[in-house]
Amino acid sequence: MEVSLQNSRIDSLKKPYQPFEIEVDVLRLDLIHPVISGNKWFKLQGHLNEAKEQTKKTIITFGGAYSNHLVATAAACQSAGLQSVGIVRGEMPQSLSHTLQDTAKFDMDLYFISRQDYTLKKIPDAVTQKYPADIYVVAEGGFGEKGSEGIADLLKESLANYTHILASVGTGTTLAGLISAASAEQKIIGISALKGAFELADRINTLLPYHLQNNFTLLHDFHFGGYAKHTPQLLRFMNDWFTQTGIPSDFVYTAKMFFAADHLIRNQTFEHSSRLLLIHSGGLQGNRSLPEGTLIF
Ligand SMILES: *Cc1c(COP(=O)(O)O)cnc(C)c1O
Repeated sequence: MEVSLQNSRIDSLKKPYQPFEIEVDVLRLDLIHPVISGNKWFKLQGHLNEAKEQTKKTIITFGGAYSNHLVATAAACQSAGLQSVGIVRGEMPQSLSHTLQDTAKFDMDLYFISRQDYTLKKIPDAVTQKYPADIYVVAEGGFGEKGSEGIADLLKESLANYTHILASVGTGTTLAGLISAASAEQKIIGISALKGAFELADRINTLLPYHLQNNFTLLHDFHFGGYAKHTPQLLRFMNDWFTQTGIPSDFVYTAKMFFAADHLIRNQTFEHSSRLLLIHSGGLQGNRSLPEGTLIF
């Protein structure tokens, strides 16, 4: 399987933002692979390297039925020669989501647990019996220092030359990686995909060395109702943005970030000659949960 940063590229958005006298580039991590698009792959590299150092053979992680993280883990483990186990939130559905079908193609062993057990991140007995030793647990969403190290290592070079870097935030691991990789003058702006997640800043700080703590801005006003929620306005924006830029987005994360960026640019938040890099963190596979025909891409 070919997953590589070399498949990504930078798109410069000339037309839509010409009047604002700034540069707006998009780092297309969605292009690294058709299914494992985006940041999840990069976050996993740090975790999987550590698992290998510890000679662990089985990777266990957690996610919902549409989780980008589960598919990426299944794929990354298969290509690293590791067994993956996915603990899925909620009862087993009558028919598996496209996302879960994909994880099975990458040989992930799936277990469904109640929402209550999921909140406690309980590993079912059946799992510990089947995989008695050599287990390495990756937190939900790939959260953790290893995840942010993976992002920092792989993306450092792509960030040079920009004054502002904007990215969508779920666990904050990706943002922490960007903050670590950026230089002191660069401004890192995270757009929360969650509603009222005011503890996020503290969580991000736990992943950062002291001198980088609070060296970022989090925006909380672009969640469109909350995590994985959407509104007609957001879906309309996704289609308009695609028409204007040719760039597809996902409704859980990247569309909210692009919307925020567009809003900030049009409100002239950025000084003339600013150079913005918008991180397209992928996640397009999640759009398959929308009714057919909702999106024009
Ligand atoms: C998970 C995810 C994010 C958020 O990344 P975090 O490191 O959890 O903050 C952003 N975009 C996409 C497409 C994702 O799948």
